[in-house]
Amino acid sequence: MKSEWSIIVVGAGIMGVCIAENLRRLGQEVLLIDKVSPGDQHQASYGNAGILARSAIVPVSAPGIISKIPSMILNPASPLFLKWRYLPKLMPWLAEFLMNSREAKVREISSALDILIGDSVEQHISLSKGTPAEKFIREGDWTYYYRNKEAMQKDSFAIKLREANNIKFEIIENDDLWEKEPFLSKNYKVGVSYLQHGWIDDPGGYVSCLANYFLGNGGSFLSGEVLDIEKNQILLKDGCSLTGEKIVIACGAWSKKVLKGFRTKIPLESERGYHIYLKKPSFMPSGPRLVAENKFGISPMKEGLRVAGLVEFGGLDLGSSSHPFRYLKNNIKKVFPDLTWESETRWMGHRPTLTDSLPMIGRLKESPNIICAFGGQHVGLTMAPKIGKIIADIIFSKKINYDLKPYDPDRF
Ligand SMILES: Cc1cc2nc3c(=O)[nH]c(=O)nc-3n(C[C@H](O)[C@H](O)[C@H](O)COP(=O)(O)OP(=O)(O)OC[C@H]3O[C@@H](n4cnc5c(N)ncnc54)[C@H](O)[C@@H]3O)c2cc1C
Repeated sequence: MKSEWSIIVVGAGIMGVCIAENLRRLGQEVLLIDKVSPGDQHQASYGNAGILARSAIVPVSAPGIISKIPSMILNPASPLFLKWRYLPKLMPWLAEFLMNSREAKVREISSALDILIGDSVEQHISLSKGTPAEKFIREGDWTYYYRNKEAMQKDSFAIKLREANNIKFEIIENDDLWEKEPFLSKNYKVGVSYLQHGWIDDPGGYVSCLANYFLGNGGSFLSGEVLDIEKNQILLKDGCSLTGEKIVIACGAWSKKVLKGFRTKIPLESERGYHIYLKKPSFMPSGPRLVAENKFGISPMKEGLRVAGLVEFGGLDLGSSSHPFRYLKNNIKKVFPDLTWESETRWMGHRPTLTDSLPMIGRLKESPNIICAFGGQHVGLTMAPKIGKIIADIIFSKKINYDLKPYDPDRF
């Protein structure tokens, strides 16, 4: 393989693959590098809930979170987990993250997220159209389950913000809800259905399929771990080095590590998430669901039901914990009491989250040939095709019709 490239994209999760494919379609010779294969289970892009969550414009760090966090961490019945030995490392990031929960700031963040995800279903359809990847995209509503109206009221800030952003939804209650969802426990009396959403019914398969399409149509892939980047030189673990006129960093939660040689402040943390994949379940809902109180999604997938979500702080290196898996398993039975399944698999992965819950998109000021594309937090799958287009526009210095300042890599 040649060692000099005009564009190298490091990281072949959903973000890197969407970027590489967009650039290839514009006639560029692109090399995609990753230490694992596209769609591999070590990627966040493999194990997510698959939801094209166009309405998820409200970040986790929203008004009220500061007072809730201590009790959530201490309460084993809460969907927030912490590896205690990681707390000292986490503190500076957590303090900044929580500072961004002020209402005015959250409104700004929501507007910036809306630009990236508001048309995400259309973006995914358009990217995969005419490729084998289109078979993974499903369309339907995304319903949040609440125990009652009081529980729904607790989400009123988020619901009103979505309403203000013209996100369409309907509220379904009691018999109307149970008629639609006959397997739902009668303890859940209210559903809020966000309309015209979509989901990917095999997220790992989707990434792998898009990457194969990229490779089959002139793109290149190198299996290797990037140890360091200096100006336009990439040093790989096997001792080889490569030169890229432009280098796009799409390494998800590992992006800060890959950019360690640069001075730019990158307050990036892993919001670890969990799934259990229930194979051959006794029934499937017609589309993705979210159990609002317990912060997990339930997605109908190719091989069964994926129950995915939660947040655990514990960094990139510590192994998974057993408690979040137990939490998911106990709670899915509370939501769907009659659900049975034949077998299950378990997974933990790393959501890449910056302290303001917005991604870094754009050139590094200190080294403009380095272009950042990471920080998709809970909606990285949703926003990836749009970011793919934005990165191509940045590389080609095309006029972009909206303000990219909120995503500026130098904003910290
Ligand atoms: C439980 C859970 C549920 C989720 N549900 C949803 C959802 O329903 N909808 C949604 O939109 N999002 C969801 N997300 C978030 C979404 O999965 C992520 O935001 C997204 O996958 C991030 O994609 P990425 O390509 O940036 O990172 P990744 O998929 O993690 O890919 C990063 C890649 O960089 C590579 N890399 C890292 N370091 C190096 C190196 N040094 N050298 C070479 N390669 C390197 C890695 O090997 C990896 O392949 C969820 C996440 C979790 C954990």
